[in-house]
Amino acid sequence: MTTRLYDEDHYLAEFDAKVSEINGLNVVLDQTVFYAKSGGQTGDKGVINGETVVDTIFIDGRHVHVMAKEPDFSIDDSVHGAIDWDRRYHIMKIHSASHIMEYFFYKNFGLLKRLGSNVDDKKDRSDYKADNRLDPEKLKRTEDDINAFLAEGHEITIEVAEDGIRTWRCGPIEDHCGGTHVKNTTEIGMIKLKRKNPGRGKERVETSLVG
Ligand SMILES: [Zn+2]
Repeated sequence: MTTRLYDEDHYLAEFDAKVSEINGLNVVLDQTVFYAKSGGQTGDKGVINGETVVDTIFIDGRHVHVMAKEPDFSIDDSVHGAIDWDRRYHIMKIHSASHIMEYFFYKNFGLLKRLGSNVDDKKDRSDYKADNRLDPEKLKRTEDDINAFLAEGHEITIEVAEDGIRTWRCGPIEDHCGGTHVKNTTEIGMIKLKRKNPGRGKERVETSLVG
C-alpha cells in the first residue's frame, strides 16, 4: 500500500520515499505526493530522482508512477520525488472551480443528469444529458454567477469521515470528492465557460481559467 501524502496536504510538491516495486516503466513507492488518475482528475507528472514521470495511474490497486524510461534506481532505494507543481496547482484550481460551476449550472439550467467529467491542466469537461443546445444567455449568467462567487473569497474545506469518504465544502456547496483542491476561491481567479456538443443528446460545459 502506498501512503497518499496528498490526502493530508494538497500543497505538498516534494517528498522522500522508498522504492517498493519496479516493473519495466512502472514504479511503486511506499509513499507519494503524485496524484493517481481517479475521480475524473488526471494523474500527476514530475520527477523521481530527476528521472521523468509521464503519468500516475492505478493498476490493480497499485499506485503506479509511469516513467519515461526504465529507472536507474532500484527496489529499496531511497528516492526524492517532485511533482510538476505549476501543472498540479492549475489542476487544483480548475477542479475546485468545477464543483462551483456545477452548483451554479444546476441553479440556472435545472438538474440535468451528469454523464461524466474530466479535469486536467487545461480545462474541466463536464457532460450532461440534454436534448437541446444549452441556452447561451443562461450559460453567460452561470459564468457571471461563478466569477462573482469566486471573488467573494470563500474557504474550501475537506472533511474526512471515519470510513474515508471525503466531503468537499465551499459556502453552500457540498460534494464527495477525493481530488486535490485549493484552500480559497480567490486562488482560482476568474473562469470562463464554453459549451460543446460531444454527441447526440449530450451537452458539454468546459471550464477553464482566465489568464
Ligand atoms: Zn471533485
